[in-house]
Amino acid sequence: MSRLHEALETRRFAEGTVKLPQSSFQDPHIQNIINIIVKDGKFKLPELVASRRDKLVKYLAQKTVSTGGKITHQLIFDWIGKQETRMNKVAAKAPILYHTMKNNVVAGELFHIFQMTELPPQGAKFSTVMFYELVRAVQADQESFFPMENFLDRRRLRQVNFVFMGVGKKTRYDSVPTACATPGGDFAFNVPFCQKLMDWAYLVGEKPKGLKYVSNGGDIPDEYAPIEFLIMHEFMHYVNGDFYYDKIIRGSNGQKADQMTINWVGDFRSNYLLCKSGYQPLPIGLYNDMINYDRQTRYKEMYDLIEQQMKLAKGAAKSGGKGGKKPKPPPYVPKVGDVVENNETWEVGEIVAINADGTVEVKPVDPATLSNSPSPAQPAPPMVNNPAVNGPGRVKP
Ligand SMILES: [Zn+2]
Repeated sequence: MSRLHEALETRRFAEGTVKLPQSSFQDPHIQNIINIIVKDGKFKLPELVASRRDKLVKYLAQKTVSTGGKITHQLIFDWIGKQETRMNKVAAKAPILYHTMKNNVVAGELFHIFQMTELPPQGAKFSTVMFYELVRAVQADQESFFPMENFLDRRRLRQVNFVFMGVGKKTRYDSVPTACATPGGDFAFNVPFCQKLMDWAYLVGEKPKGLKYVSNGGDIPDEYAPIEFLIMHEFMHYVNGDFYYDKIIRGSNGQKADQMTINWVGDFRSNYLLCKSGYQPLPIGLYNDMINYDRQTRYKEMYDLIEQQMKLAKGAAKSGGKGGKKPKPPPYVPKVGDVVENNETWEVGEIVAINADGTVEVKPVDPATLSNSPSPAQPAPPMVNNPAVNGPGRVKP
């Protein structure tokens, strides 16, 4: 039987022509999911540290005390409204960086609430057997993924190593709440996160186009469509050289490339290409119609643009609020034992050592255990550019 390959789109598309994620409270599937959360859902702390969403964890934990865990309509509207305001403020200062993402705050934030909602089982249950079947289908579709070549040293990766977090066995990637790729060829997936993506796809009623899916006569349940997107996204970090650029690019200050900026380049590039190629995007993630290989021709151009926009955005954060400048607090000096928050990933950890260069080593802390601690987590500048020293090492979510 001849196989129909699902190649990635190679034509150049004009701005405004690729369907990128957009959402509003008026969307029927958004209303449907809000109603399901309010009717059947209960706030539940995620099994793994919900680092990135730590602020939301605290918000929900606090607000649902009086409702016995119930998440109300009001609570959802308040949280999303607050995040929209925040996004609009920052988008006004860095319009290119948030150009596209400001259109998807509703679905993005609702998905994060959904992640912390315990609900009766929805569609298909995540299974590693089905996952591997999906991987084989993806690799058959995309020749560039097989064999996978490491851009860094031009060596072919003989074996792709998959790791699953959140299934009872400890892994070195347990602090990653989503999925990640490493230069050594590990691809790690947080199973509870994958399950939530599948539940969401089920509730939205997504119908993927691939022939591998049940809807089109295949044997993979339709709910796996977001997992396909995620697998391809992680493979793309590897085959498109994000680990390579990580090493060679210099920022405008002449310093080593900023990890977060490199991550944004990779995510914008891959997510745009996947959407352009007809894949259904995830409800969350970094999408940009103005930063991708249809707008720029070189990686470094994207890097420089994001770097410049991030500076503008940071300026927005500094001058934010009414009444002008607030007095600057004295710079924070890290001490062993302090609980700190990575201001990029919102990961919370306890400082276990301070390195000679001023960076710190941290041990992840479950935010759930912090609610009763006497002092709130400190914002910790030293962890920036040095995330998870003790954790998974160089990874790209
Ligand atoms: Zn990524």
